[in-house]
Formats: sequence, C-alpha cells, structure tokens
Amino acid sequence: MAGPQASQIAILGAGPSGLTLARLLRVKAIPYVIFDRDANPFASSASSPAFDGATAIPYIPPTLSNQGGTLDIHTETGQLALREAGLFEQFEAHARYDGQAFVTVDSAAQDLTRQVPGPHERGRPEIDRPVLREILLRSVLEPLDPASPGQESTAGEVIWEKKVDCVEKYEKEGDASGWHVRFEDGSVAGPFKLVVGADGTWSKTRKIVTPATPIYSGITFLQSRISQANPIYARAEEQIGRGTYFAVTGGKTMICQRMGNGSYNVYAGVPLPEKWTNGNGDILESQAARERFIREQYAGWDKSLTDLILHSDAGRSHRWPLHSLAAKDIGWESVSGVTLIGDAAHTAFTNGEGVNIGMFDALQLVREIQRCGLERLDEAVTAYEKDMFVRGKEHIESGDHLAKIFYAKDAPREVIEWLRSIGF
Ligand SMILES: Cc1cc2nc3c(=O)[nH]c(=O)nc-3n(C[C@H](O)[C@H](O)[C@H](O)COP(=O)(O)OP(=O)(O)OC[C@H]3O[C@@H](n4cnc5c(N)ncnc54)[C@H](O)[C@@H]3O)c2cc1C
Repeated sequence: MAGPQASQIAILGAGPSGLTLARLLRVKAIPYVIFDRDANPFASSASSPAFDGATAIPYIPPTLSNQGGTLDIHTETGQLALREAGLFEQFEAHARYDGQAFVTVDSAAQDLTRQVPGPHERGRPEIDRPVLREILLRSVLEPLDPASPGQESTAGEVIWEKKVDCVEKYEKEGDASGWHVRFEDGSVAGPFKLVVGADGTWSKTRKIVTPATPIYSGITFLQSRISQANPIYARAEEQIGRGTYFAVTGGKTMICQRMGNGSYNVYAGVPLPEKWTNGNGDILESQAARERFIREQYAGWDKSLTDLILHSDAGRSHRWPLHSLAAKDIGWESVSGVTLIGDAAHTAFTNGEGVNIGMFDALQLVREIQRCGLERLDEAVTAYEKDMFVRGKEHIESGDHLAKIFYAKDAPREVIEWLRSIGF
C-alpha cells in the first residue's frame, strides 16, 4: 500500500469526526490516510445520480443510509469546523433552519414547552446525518476548488473494508519508530507517526491510551420511519411539524424528527436489556409485536403518540442501545503517537452534542498540528488532549444528567425545569 506507507498520519474511522479531520488536514496540505470498515459507498456511483450541490436531493449510498436521523449542528463547534473546512456553504444548502422548532409534550400529548425559531435563529440548524457524511466524504475525495488560492490537492486516501483489529507499537533498531495498524483481514499498515482513533464507541484504538470501556445506560432507542406514503403521514405532519417533537413521561421517551425529504424519524426511548431480542432481534417486526411493545412500554400514553410507533412504516426497526464512557475515565497520560477524537474519546449518552464535539475535536487537533508542525506531533497531541479532556468530561456529564432526568420515574418533572433553564 504505497499511499498509506507514505503518510505519517493514519485516521481510523470515516465517521463525521474522522472525515472532518481528514478534510481539515487536506486544506492545510498535511498528508493522511483513512481506514474504515465500511464498503466503499461510491463503488457503484457510475450508475448513481450525482450529488450536485445546493439543489439536488443528494444520492445517499446504501452503506451510509442507516445512520440515525437528523443532527443539529451548533455555531460554536460543528458549524465552526465546517467553516474552517471550507464547507459551510455546502452545509447551508442542506441545513434546515425551520428544523430548530422543538416541542415537548407529556404522555397525554399536552404541551410542556413549544419553541418556534425566529427568522434570524441560526444556532442549531438540522441536517440529515447521511447528507452531512456525504458532504464530508466528497470533500476529501473530490478535487479541491481551483479558485481557492494556496490549496494544493493533497487528497488523502480512504481505504475501505479495513476493519481495525488493533494498533501495535512498531520499533526497529536503526529505523524510525511509530505505530502499525493491524486489520481483521490479516493485513498491516504503517508505521505511522500518529494514529488518530476516530473509530467510534467501540474504538479499537482506545485501549492503547486507556482501559476505559463504554457502559450500557439501560436505555435503548428503537428507530422507525413515517414516510409520505404512510396513511398516517398527514396527521403526523400536523402533530410533529417541521422540527423535533419530544414526548416524555415516567422513564420513557418518544422523539420524532422531520428529515430533509419530509419523512419522520421516530425513536422510541425505553429501558431494555442491552442485548434484548424478541427472537429475531426486531421489536417492531409485525403489527402484533408493535401492539405488544406499546402495551408493555407505553401503557396509558395518548393514542396520538402511540400511533406514531404502531403505524410507522412496515419493515425492520433499528436498535440503538445507548452507551457512555464514565466521566471520571476521561484524562490519561498522553501516549506518543496515538490520540482519539469524537466518540472514541468520549462516548456519551446521546445529548445532541456528539457529532458537534467530534468535529470540534478534529478542528482543535488540526490547529495544534499546524502550530507544532509534523516534527513535533507529540507536543500537538498533548496540547489538544489537555482541552479535549475537559470538553469530553463535560460532554459525558451532560449526557449522564439528561439520562437521569429524562428517564426518571417521575419525569417530566425535572425535564421541564431543565428546559426552562436553557431558555425553552
Ligand atoms: C440514536 C442516536 C442518536 C444520536 N443523535 C445525535 C444528535 O442528534 N446530535 C449529535 O450531535 N449526536 C447524536 N448522536 C451521537 C453521534 O451519533 C456520535 O457522537 C457521532 O456519530 C460520533 O462521530 P464519530 O465520527 O466520532 O463516530 P462514529 O459516527 O461512530 O463513526 C465511527 C466510524 O468508524 C468506523 N469504525 C468503527 N469501528 C471500526 C473499526 N474497528 N475499524 C475500522 N473502522 C471502524 C465506522 O464505520 C464509522 O465510519 C446520536 C447517537 C445515537 C446512537
């Protein structure tokens, strides 16, 4: 693998954090290589409609399609990283500012809070997760804008279908030391001067720097869809509106989000064993299974809410058991040549910040690398980690707090207080 051997920086994971890092390195003309376990999503793009900027509905490659719903991207973190990456205009072309609307209701479908964004509210627009990933992915693969002065084309490589098994120290007498990356297919890449683990919750890179491992929160999200063809769509649209509709009571939630194509993403947030399965692994597989699920989990909830799950599109649901690292585990002695960004560094109970913080990690790491230069990567990593530890710890604590109040038996009591405290 000539390309990877020539790069000094390896990024493990092509999720939003890893791709933001790659893009930022690219615009700063710093070479890198990314490895991801996924298959190349553009392998068959010759027969696929092209992604043509602002107006077209982007092609969503099949391997990127089931990545959750929509993400709100914040001014000071995710948006900032996109600006520095030269991608803000592309982001804005797909960002939904009306998606910032946020309604909270109780199990009787009675409003607790209702927030409608003003015309100048720009702080947390929504974008579909696959669209964001596609913008980032194309930005590392496609030629740089020739009109941007000073930007050499330092396209890195994304090497697909490379599932990392482990990262190993490489030391050879009289030769440069560094790190090797070993893959499950038996191949090895490297040595690299810096390995950045952007490989998410179950990072294989993490064990080089800390023994910390994610803990199951006790809550699982079951994800389903309501598409325009669904007979309940018109009623769902009237009820949910253009943003997020969040129902919470007695330790259960239901989160409905409008997607870019007008369909609705529905999460049922309920306490379930981590490896729960009803035999074939899909709780919402059939109408009978859905009815049983509603009886067991949402007894007493208003029909206008339970119908959103009962009559969501037929087909499989996706199960997201929610994990978190412990806040006390964030902070370790820097290890020469290895660091983490995004969920690999600080997986938290979902709190609407994960992607933003991962993208901001990427931005901060690149700033430090640029400041120190490739000769002083260790210094860059130590400086980056110092702030990342503070950020990561706060992120996890915020997730823990939300898990506690949203899934409390007496919810929504504290939820209302919390929403008011943040201006809802
Ligand atoms: C249900 C749910 C809803 C969420 N909603 C929001 C939200 O609204 N807003 C928000 O900001 N955050 C949200 N999050 C959190 C957010 O998804 C994560 O924080 C974010 O995806 C982290 O990005 P990442 O790039 O660090 O990791 P990931 O997105 O997990 O990407 C990791 C990448 O590494 C690759 N990879 C993993 N293991 C290996 C391996 N062994 N070898 C090679 N490649 C590997 C994967 O294929 C993937 O491409 C939500 C999370 C969940 C579960």
